[in-house]
Amino acid sequence: MPDSLAVSVDQQRYAVAACTRMFNDLKILDHSGHVTVRLPDKSGFLIQAVHASRAQLMPEDLFTVSFDGEILDGPAGTRPASEFHIHSEIYKARPDVNAVLHAHPKVPILFTIAEGAELVMVLNHGYRWRNGVPVHPDTAHIDTPELGRAMVETMGDANAVLLKAHGIVLASESIQSLLIDGIHFDRNAQALLEASRLGKPIPMTDAEFDIFEQRFDRPKHGIKLWHYYSTRAIETGVLPGEWRTAI
Ligand SMILES: [Zn+2]
Repeated sequence: MPDSLAVSVDQQRYAVAACTRMFNDLKILDHSGHVTVRLPDKSGFLIQAVHASRAQLMPEDLFTVSFDGEILDGPAGTRPASEFHIHSEIYKARPDVNAVLHAHPKVPILFTIAEGAELVMVLNHGYRWRNGVPVHPDTAHIDTPELGRAMVETMGDANAVLLKAHGIVLASESIQSLLIDGIHFDRNAQALLEASRLGKPIPMTDAEFDIFEQRFDRPKHGIKLWHYYSTRAIETGVLPGEWRTAI
């Protein structure tokens, strides 16, 4: 799948549904959480219906909404996910962001509820969050524009924000990039937790990140992981076989 903004809305619908199912299979998402993408014409974004299963999400379960919450298209008898404002406020404030994940994965959240714990980057792919991951202190669900704006203020120009005792928010330039960011963000948190049982974790240094970034081809890595995980997901039945050509 090419860059998120270079495809049709129909292709984006499949990509969001597929990415959600893959995150669910990887235990980064579960019964709650959502993947969204900015529309190709940048007039709004796609977000799933509130109660649609993340494990069986279909392209037709997605709403097309404006950044102010106006529903432009979507399924009848339901409404967009209630933490809509996490996404809308990021898209309004951050033109560099085209895809957003909000989820509640177990290990990253631990770093918001243990005194003195800090989610530092110990793996090379953590370069995306090398300047730190802000922790938003509000533990409530972000279900109003005001709460969304407060979260965006905490986030600043970071590519992620932790929501205290609640979850994570990741911001990326495309759906493929969001998939790799979700995987590497969760993997870094797990590595940090496990390394701390062996000894004092050693954070990556700026010099190490500089060298990693110089040689790292992010678009190519995104295509590689998208291919690996989507192919595996079709083989295991996480994605319908007929989606093979759509994603
Ligand atoms: Zn949440």
